[in-house]
Amino acid sequence: MNNNEMLLLKLGEVVLKGLNRRSFEDKLMNNVRRRLRHCGSFQTYLRQSTIYVEPTNDSCDMEAAWTACKQVFGIAAVARAVPCEKTVEAIVETAKVYLKDEFARAKSFKVESKRADKQFPMNSIQISQTVGGELAEAFPDVEVDVHNPDLTVHVEVREKHAYVHGPSEPGAGGLPVGMGGHAVSLLSGGIDSPVSSWMMARRGVQLEMVHFVSPPYTSQQALDKVLELARLLTAYCGRMIVHIVPFTEIQEEIRKNCPEEYFTLIMRRFMMRLAEAVAKKAGAKALVTGESLGQVASQTMMALGVTEDVTTMPVLRPLIGMDKVEIIRLSREIGTFDTSILPYEDCCTVFTPRHPATRPNLEDVRAAEAALDVDALVAKALEGETWVRVKP
Ligand code: ATP
Ligand code: MG
Repeated sequence: MNNNEMLLLKLGEVVLKGLNRRSFEDKLMNNVRRRLRHCGSFQTYLRQSTIYVEPTNDSCDMEAAWTACKQVFGIAAVARAVPCEKTVEAIVETAKVYLKDEFARAKSFKVESKRADKQFPMNSIQISQTVGGELAEAFPDVEVDVHNPDLTVHVEVREKHAYVHGPSEPGAGGLPVGMGGHAVSLLSGGIDSPVSSWMMARRGVQLEMVHFVSPPYTSQQALDKVLELARLLTAYCGRMIVHIVPFTEIQEEIRKNCPEEYFTLIMRRFMMRLAEAVAKKAGAKALVTGESLGQVASQTMMALGVTEDVTTMPVLRPLIGMDKVEIIRLSREIGTFDTSILPYEDCCTVFTPRHPATRPNLEDVRAAEAALDVDALVAKALEGETWVRVKP
């Protein structure tokens, strides 16, 4: 590693924001700084659609910073770079040393340059040609290939320094968390809901989680697993509150008083009511679920209509059109899969009907539910709500 190594973070969609751009950038800078806190002391600043992340001393953990920055929404690409003096000689020298291993592996290369400092005496094409020529001499075994090179050497001439870096890697994309509003996400211990939460956070939504527990049918391990999923998500979403709402009595009352084919649907209607209440108290404006059209009986189009009937808030379902294999792939990528598949019961799987209604009629479900004192059950469950603050 080079001692001067730093990170360049390229802004994503943020750059498309017109008048709001400033507030998007401020939010993004705050998010980056907060996420870097546990990696050491860094100086961070934003110039020309790039965030500079510079370690201020040797004890900074660059690997941790790299990982952290790759998980910040609003960043399109991340590169490790080395700053140097703004002369061709310094740029060539830096590239020779810093990218020595990359040159040893490559058969061909090109130089791509950007000149942000318009005072610099060469334009970007001239920089690429001159630096490329010198590097070709320094590494005679590596050919110049401007169309399909193994290695692209990036040179950026900016305000204070020039920067040299190899290939950048994709960032997390999306928009800075906090810019897309505030929502409550229904987090189960399954594969889907961590992914749906991640997808909404990627659109800049700040999340609070709600999780329903049914002791003694569901265990402490099941709850711990959900808290672990939430903790894994904090790497992307920042710290968050997980609301834990007791659900046992509601489920027992449904089982005692309602037709079996509607168990799951009525249960889901209670989840929506409780989640909406939690959201209103938190000032959140939408609910998020991991539902995907047709995945299970309670996720047919008619079932979704029955579920949604009890809330006036927008219900965001980012997985609605995704196949399970795609959802699983994403869950592996974001790192929640291994925890999701730990085998603990979720309250959803406690009293499942043998023959759930897949084409439910809303009026029939409402009538079946009328056997219950809905308001009292909701109020009681909310009284039992507890919460945990989950940190990275
Ligand atoms: P998942 O993999 O997210 O558990 P699933 O395919 O098992 O999804 P369901 O169990 O029907 O689907 O749940 C659908 C959605 O309802 C979940 O994605 C989640 O948003 C919400 N949900 C289910 N169980 C709970 C729970 N115990 N607490 C909070 N939300 C839940
Ligand atoms: Mg589930």
